[in-house]
Amino acid sequence: MLTVSAYAAPSASEALVPTTIERRDVGAHDVLIEIKYAGICHSDIHTVRGDWGPQSYPLAPGHEIAGIVTEIGSEVTRHKVGDRVGVGCMVNSCRECGNCRKGEEQYCLKGMTGTYGAVDRDGTITQGGYSTHVVVTEDFVVRIPERIGLDAAAPLLCAGITTYSPLRHWGAGPGKKVGVVGLGGLGHMAVKLAHAMGADVTVLSQSLKKMEDGLRLGADQYFATSEPATFEKLAGTFDLIINTVSAPIDISSYLQLLTLDGALVNVGAPAEPLPVNVFSLITGRRSFAGSAIGGIRETQEMLDFCAEHGLGAEIEVIPADKINDAYERVLASDVRYRFVIDASTLG
Ligand code: NAP
Ligand code: ZN
Ligand code: ZN
Repeated sequence: MLTVSAYAAPSASEALVPTTIERRDVGAHDVLIEIKYAGICHSDIHTVRGDWGPQSYPLAPGHEIAGIVTEIGSEVTRHKVGDRVGVGCMVNSCRECGNCRKGEEQYCLKGMTGTYGAVDRDGTITQGGYSTHVVVTEDFVVRIPERIGLDAAAPLLCAGITTYSPLRHWGAGPGKKVGVVGLGGLGHMAVKLAHAMGADVTVLSQSLKKMEDGLRLGADQYFATSEPATFEKLAGTFDLIINTVSAPIDISSYLQLLTLDGALVNVGAPAEPLPVNVFSLITGRRSFAGSAIGGIRETQEMLDFCAEHGLGAEIEVIPADKINDAYERVLASDVRYRFVIDASTLG
């Protein structure tokens, strides 16, 4: 066992505090990663605060991990000491079910093993990336291309893949109009990726406060959803809408913005149900869908795509003692556009 420094929540209602956690010994198929940066995803906040159900505490969140391999197990072939690597939202899956065999491990029929707060194969509870080191089976570790800084790469491991996967699945590209609801961590990556794929991109944000940023990131249009005229003006416009909002919104009014056969894909994961007026679907053969992160193969494809197009996340690097402040700013939609923890400040 390796005892390492971390930041963890002692309970759903307390701030995160410095602590230590245990990492397992490096097994034959494991790699030991020295974490350099860990992104703060809104899912970390939902999870530690119990929005998605009870958790086991203390809980160290973090599933946007970028670092360097410092040790490998005897059977490891995919990675070597010194490699720049990343770990996202999952650290294992059954590898045998139909979905795992398709490379869609995030939809493992037996349930993928989450990077934190999940029961691991050995019965322990996984602990996430707000820590200095992590031990992960080699198959769930991806390569970070040289062209992307490790700090700007960390958020790609969740925010990047969670938006890349539905953009690809629903065919974002030239001639397609894509709407992105919410310009936060996921939203800003959706804008960059959809633009790089050649789509015409529109941001739908609560206000016009971040308009300049949105256009710089690659949006072609930018609208405020607080303006009722936005919904009249854009009715029937989009082939694809990616909703990244962390809170419930009136989905039916956004469905009306889709063209015939358009799809609204929810990646935002509020605890509350999102009621739908079926007439907003029926009247345009529209779809309301959801999507979870992406498989390991697609995560590598996304990182390679980002390297090819010179993309990374827009980040604000913070020391560990600012994690709790960063949580409050994320909750207030005051993030531009991902907080990333400098892991050297954890210990
Ligand atoms: P984030 O950085 O907080 O961004 C969310 C954005 O949504 C905010 O910046 C804000 O953008 C908008 N927003 C927030 N509250 C709103 C409200 N009450 N009404 C309207 N708009 C609001 O969060 P994130 O890290 O991108 O994560 C977003 C959601 O995706 C979370 O629920 C998270 O758990 C979920 N998630 C899902 C997956 C998956 O696999 N499906 C993966 C990662 C995260 P504007 O200021 O521009 O309006
Ligand atoms: Zn996440
Ligand atoms: Zn499986």
